[in-house]
Amino acid sequence: MSDTNSRAHLLPETLQVRGAREHNLRGVDVDLPHRNLTVFTGVSGSGKSSLAFATIYAEGQRRQLQSMSTFARQFMHQMDKPDVDHIGGLCSAVAVDQRSSASRSPRSTVGTVTEVYDLLRVVYARIGHPHCTVCGTELDEDACPQGHDTLLPEMTNGAFSFNLPFGQCTACQGVGTRLEVDPTTLVADPTRSLVEGAITPWRPTFTEPERMKARAVAQLEGEDENTPWEELSEELRHKLLHGTDIKVRARKFDKPGDPVKDVVFTGVVPWLYERYRKSGGENFGQLENYMRPAPCGACGGGRLNPAQLAVRVAGRGIAEVTALPVSVSLRLFQELEVSDRERAAVGQALEEIVQRLGHLTRMGLEYLALDRPARTLSGGESQRIRLAGLLGTDMFGLLYVLDEPTTGLHPRDIEKLVATLQDLRDQGNTVLIVEHDHQMIKAADWVVELGPAAGEHGGELLYSGPVEQLLDDVNSPTGGYTSGTRGIAVPASRRPPAPDRRITVYGAKENNLAGFDVSFPLGTFIAVTGVSGAGKSTLVDDILYPAVESALGGDAPAPGAHTRIEGLHHIDRVIKVDQAPIGRSGRSTPATYTGVFDSIRKVFCQTPEAKKRRYKPGRFSFNSAGGRCETCTGDGSIKIEMQLLPDVFLHCETCNGTRYNAETLEIRYRGKNIAEVLEMPIEEALEFFAGESVIEAPLRVLDEVGLGYLRLGQSATTLSGGEAQRVKLANELQRRAGAHTLYLLDEPTTGLHSSDIDRLLSVLHSLVDKGHTVLAVSHNLDLIKTADWVVDIGPEGGDGGGALVAAGTPEQVAGQPDGHTGRFLRDVLG
Ligand code: ADP
Ligand code: ADP
Ligand code: ZN
Ligand code: ZN
Repeated sequence: MSDTNSRAHLLPETLQVRGAREHNLRGVDVDLPHRNLTVFTGVSGSGKSSLAFATIYAEGQRRQLQSMSTFARQFMHQMDKPDVDHIGGLCSAVAVDQRSSASRSPRSTVGTVTEVYDLLRVVYARIGHPHCTVCGTELDEDACPQGHDTLLPEMTNGAFSFNLPFGQCTACQGVGTRLEVDPTTLVADPTRSLVEGAITPWRPTFTEPERMKARAVAQLEGEDENTPWEELSEELRHKLLHGTDIKVRARKFDKPGDPVKDVVFTGVVPWLYERYRKSGGENFGQLENYMRPAPCGACGGGRLNPAQLAVRVAGRGIAEVTALPVSVSLRLFQELEVSDRERAAVGQALEEIVQRLGHLTRMGLEYLALDRPARTLSGGESQRIRLAGLLGTDMFGLLYVLDEPTTGLHPRDIEKLVATLQDLRDQGNTVLIVEHDHQMIKAADWVVELGPAAGEHGGELLYSGPVEQLLDDVNSPTGGYTSGTRGIAVPASRRPPAPDRRITVYGAKENNLAGFDVSFPLGTFIAVTGVSGAGKSTLVDDILYPAVESALGGDAPAPGAHTRIEGLHHIDRVIKVDQAPIGRSGRSTPATYTGVFDSIRKVFCQTPEAKKRRYKPGRFSFNSAGGRCETCTGDGSIKIEMQLLPDVFLHCETCNGTRYNAETLEIRYRGKNIAEVLEMPIEEALEFFAGESVIEAPLRVLDEVGLGYLRLGQSATTLSGGEAQRVKLANELQRRAGAHTLYLLDEPTTGLHSSDIDRLLSVLHSLVDKGHTVLAVSHNLDLIKTADWVVDIGPEGGDGGGALVAAGTPEQVAGQPDGHTGRFLRDVLG
């Protein structure tokens, strides 16, 4: 029997789901063919993730646990079983989503996550040539031919590991960088005086003693504490930043009665280092805003000790190789010439390295370097790295469940992703993908559409079958948008850029940016485009945002390299709405984040029974003692940490998951208790609280950005990146905006179906109509085609990118002969 045949028999014909009722699903019955690429689609909130992740994957995981340790098994009866009658034909399941993929450890790199680094270590330990750490000459019989004293590298199994003490650089413990205070961030507004809080880290009130000391230093030096910072003497400014030995007489607080003492003034730079040290490396009080990672002076960022860094293969040290983009290191290893003896020792490792680097390239990640810290990757990048790793394992007979793998990918790279997922299928696996992207939907073997709308208006199976019939189905929202019979209109005209209202960045040079000048016309809708790794986030998040924020006197990290920026005075507020979670704990919810929960708790206090019992708003909080359930301290569930397995959450049996104690739940407003209110979808709460305008207004905005289906009390940890971003956007929209606000968005269409994108775009365009500026980094052609102005960076990722390819209206960008964005825009502009 051939290999493919034996694999084909591993999985049953179909996966059968019967009576799925998790979340909003309405008893969904569906049969999915195994060894197919199946896309789950439908409007946001229709139940795609509830079916793919919360039902199919969760049940797969539960059955896996069942077959494992007895320790895990004893919790099985309490572990929530997905609400489904029956699932047949289920096999081992692997989930690749965007939240769990990211590693927060500073030690984790692209190389370690993909295990390419472990393979490199084997190669270096077995065939590396040690060199003298002093002069760099190759060692001969463990000695430097030039006679220098040199350290001998370990060439054992643990060698070249920056996680093990004997290999790592002692100065940075293998992290490769050290945070250094960046003096340019310490005075955001040099026109302020010491009294007005010129020294930014000492502006908050808890640092008042330091501010008082700084003022005393100025007096001692005979200068005026009311003089703007920029007019103080160079000498005094240096003392304020770096400290003086002399003691100063100062009061602790700015109160006349406060006793005066002789104290030492350390200066703001040493003060920041001291606080950072005391905090144990926590970013307490935004300390890291004043710091920048600088390469470790001892290892130059190579993370290893000098002896190990000096070992070379093909003339290069291991740290030099990991600093190369994957595209270059791939070529290096493909072309590496080794002797027969070396081939016997490392041939297999080299093959494996080439294969894995090839998988990264196919995932559109060729611009990444292996030494790139994993925590600096975007959600989409981490997800694709995990996918690349799965391709390398040659596993089959598995069920893969993916959450919008096209996130962060330019249309050009989606084709490669599709081909890779098809390979995974051809290896003998079943691939389930929650996805909105038209290219991906068209490439599917099978499509499942849920709907017709979100939340309780969704949860029904609209379609399950081959993709061709869906495209012709006039009743399917997805079919029409995918085939092009329905669509988002190209605006009849564009807002013309005003020549005198623009922000211009000169000499943008951070990361891979080539030092170009670029203008952003204000009062327009701007799309910043380009393939993954082109330099979009570097320009927007690392240069533009921090520059605007600090010009407005806010806390922001130091802007990335550029020569100057003009036009910042046109803006009086900047709002960055990214996809970072709105809270890492289950206690943060859309209601708490937007503040609407405060108003809801006040309304509960106004009920006659609450008044009689003298309940204060705190009574209705699940974050403080009094009204909450003390068994689970208001979590509603109890976390059990499992060795080697993800944590398991058990339902709290005292409060039955409501988070509150019985007395609190006795209070009812319009017939519902506080826990029932938190369970309500936003759109339902909007009707429920009719007439309570302070509650209605923020809820209406949440509904407008397409979140009406979320529950008020839905835990932040269950929100996708796109949902978190829209919660933040709604929160900003309900606040009073300045006259000229600059909104910065990062792929705002993530997680949205075409029909939701339509709604979101009208919200964003209405902001521009009010005079604000909206700037979105985006790959979504529907968004880009409605923009007034497009800034296209590239043409490629990494070293092949970083140039300004085009800037102009979508028509102008489409008219450019080169540039990947223009090419795709031409099709949609028609
Ligand atoms: P989709 O993936 O189609 O965007 P979801 O399956 O995430 O939709 O959500 C479907 C419905 O289930 C929505 O009303 C959503 O608010 C609700 N929901 C999703 N996750 C949870 C959860 N963990 N707890 C309660 N309700 C949830
Ligand atoms: P885009 O936003 O267009 O996907 P980025 O701005 O994230 O691109 O990346 C541009 C280039 O800069 C890439 O080569 C990327 O690997 C590199 N880069 C981005 N962030 C960092 C970082 N924190 N450290 C090192 N290199 C980075
Ligand atoms: Zn070091
Ligand atoms: Zn409880």
